[in-house]
Amino acid sequence: MAVRLSDIPAEGLVLDYRHDPGRLEPLGEGVRVLEPVDVHLTITPEGDRYLILGEVKGRVQVECGRCLAPVTLTVVAPCAVDAVPLPKRTSPDEPGSLGRGDLDVIFYSGPVLNLDDLVREQLLLNIAMRPLCREGCLGLCPSCGKNRNESPCGCRDLAATDPRLDELRKLRGRSNA
Ligand SMILES: [Zn+2]
Ligand SMILES: [Zn+2]
Repeated sequence: MAVRLSDIPAEGLVLDYRHDPGRLEPLGEGVRVLEPVDVHLTITPEGDRYLILGEVKGRVQVECGRCLAPVTLTVVAPCAVDAVPLPKRTSPDEPGSLGRGDLDVIFYSGPVLNLDDLVREQLLLNIAMRPLCREGCLGLCPSCGKNRNESPCGCRDLAATDPRLDELRKLRGRSNA
């Protein structure tokens, strides 16, 4: 999705559309966009900058932070973004006058504002760091790697029948006798 800068009127442009998920791939490792993403944005020109305010909302599939099972999340991302012209060259002497408060910054060059990156970034920023498939997910067994939500893997039973432990029990039994 790209917006021609010349199509943005002084009073601002209201965008209301569904963003093609194919244009957002790859979103990130282990993250998939499941359906078109709802985008509601207002783009207001301010000199050669554009203030982009609104909301991006979509459903994504990620991996559970403990057991790696697929988890579907609805991500609602409030957007407050400043689109600034891409600097012709970056000079270390001029630490950009870019930052404006809490606004995220994207760069544009040429006659269009490409919203693919913006939508992608805003979604990613609002996905929890370690989402869980369920509260109290038991995760994968650290020794055998089995998903402990599906069935106990028996690693603990194995430890209980460790022959060395049997020896220990025998010894204890003897000393108690
Ligand atoms: Zn899980
Ligand atoms: Zn195990």
